[in-house]
Amino acid sequence: MKVVGHFINGETCTPKGRMQDVYNPATGEAEKLVLLASKATVNDAIVSAQNAFVEWRNTPVSKRARVMFKFKSLLEEHADEIIALIGAEHGKISHDAAGELQRGIENVEFACGAPQLLKGEHSKNVGPSIDSWSEFQPLGVVAGITPFNFPAMVPLWMFPLAIVCGNTFVLKPSERDPSCAIFLAKLLKEAGLPDGVFNVINGNKEAVDQILDDERIKAVSFVGSTPIAEYIYSKANANGKRCQALGGAKNHAIVMPDADIDNAVNQLLGAAFGSSGERCMALSVVVAVGDKVADEIVDKMQSAMESLKVGAFDDATNDFGPLITLQHKEKVEGYITSAAEQGADVVVDGRNPSVKGYETGFFLGATLIDKVTPEMASYKAEIFGPVLQVMRVKSMEQAMQLIDSHEYGNGTCIFTRDGEAARYFSDNIQVGMVGINVPLPVPVSYHSFGGWKRSLFGDLHAYGPDGVRFYTKRKTITQRWPSSGIREGVSFSFPS
Ligand code: NAD
Repeated sequence: MKVVGHFINGETCTPKGRMQDVYNPATGEAEKLVLLASKATVNDAIVSAQNAFVEWRNTPVSKRARVMFKFKSLLEEHADEIIALIGAEHGKISHDAAGELQRGIENVEFACGAPQLLKGEHSKNVGPSIDSWSEFQPLGVVAGITPFNFPAMVPLWMFPLAIVCGNTFVLKPSERDPSCAIFLAKLLKEAGLPDGVFNVINGNKEAVDQILDDERIKAVSFVGSTPIAEYIYSKANANGKRCQALGGAKNHAIVMPDADIDNAVNQLLGAAFGSSGERCMALSVVVAVGDKVADEIVDKMQSAMESLKVGAFDDATNDFGPLITLQHKEKVEGYITSAAEQGADVVVDGRNPSVKGYETGFFLGATLIDKVTPEMASYKAEIFGPVLQVMRVKSMEQAMQLIDSHEYGNGTCIFTRDGEAARYFSDNIQVGMVGINVPLPVPVSYHSFGGWKRSLFGDLHAYGPDGVRFYTKRKTITQRWPSSGIREGVSFSFPS
């Protein structure tokens, strides 16, 4: 079986050590093995990043950006290979993988603007013949720990920007779909990135803990589930590291009585079931204002769902693919069972779909559950599967209270024709990313991505302007060149 190793100091390596199966979720078969980095391997990656840092930090920013220009072209040139790698290990449909890659490329495009982004701030004559400026210096070796659900895009949220800011990088991708990151590392090398600036180690908790404990690593960007995000954030902080840890979600869409219901239903279908609901921005709860709206949505969803097609990634006529593992599929099925046991109506049950030729794959069909209430386990948890839950409320205030009471605050959306209601909603809702008739309000690369409440631990969001701040530290320099004219005597007080 093919073994997926690491990428350290410009080379792939497969040292002997512990391994884990990598599944093709469409067939349900383990088709590759991934190495789980030992302490020595993690150390090699950190040493390599540390050795590369001084020269890279002193490389002119325009040259650093030029590597990203080339990297962008290579990503486009090799898009089909990347899409196939994502499909084979993650299972998402090729057009969805293409979309993921495109969003990632947009982060590379943003990083190409590094000379502009790092210009700093300058003030002349802040005092007599005194100038002051702030510059944004790299931190050193920084690390990224990423989830399975976007094997290309989420790493691309992190390392292009970190690298153009002058840092060197150690990436620990998800061990469930590890090949994409290695492929990206090879393209970066081809783009002219010096060896050691970008390293990939595959592994699990052991490698992550080592990253968190190693004082040579100055900052950690994490994206994954909330319990792990919270753990990473506390441990990184306790060890004096800068950390941004993005966690899980439960994204609600409010549908107001005045909304264009047909449009809302179309938007909800894609946002709930696209990528099998394995997106942190997936809309997993519809909050219908009024029973009439709820009944209409359930009716229209039900008939639209009949034509949804679940299947393998390489058939572009499929709407979404399998779940990532058998365990995850069983967990999602468990939430459907528990919703029914707790009194909800399972209107469309996606369990046991028939997918011809892929009978052993980890497939689950689109599922619609009505009359869900806040006490239900399936409502409290992030299901992370193709399951859309419908809740019924009487007013927009009630809908907003529901959203604000949930532990997560990643994304949300309102469907309405009423500008005033939409404005009130976006102004007051306690959620970090808000859509108005836009179901997946993922910020573009020149804004920044992040939720509120237990969807993000840390102060700065990912990528965009916050990313530049995260990967740099401000240094403010105040300068005077004394000459006989302005030389002053001793002073023990602040000038007044
Ligand atoms: P996960 O938390 O299981 O894993 C994420 C990373 O953490 C992986 O690299 C994994 O190896 C590592 N990890 C897992 N357990 C660990 C432990 N005990 N100690 C240290 N490291 C550990 O997440 P996942 O299942 O890969 O991804 C799905 C989750 O990610 C969902 O909750 C989803 O909402 C979230 N997510 C959030 C965002 C966001 O931007 N907020 C984006 C994508 C995914």
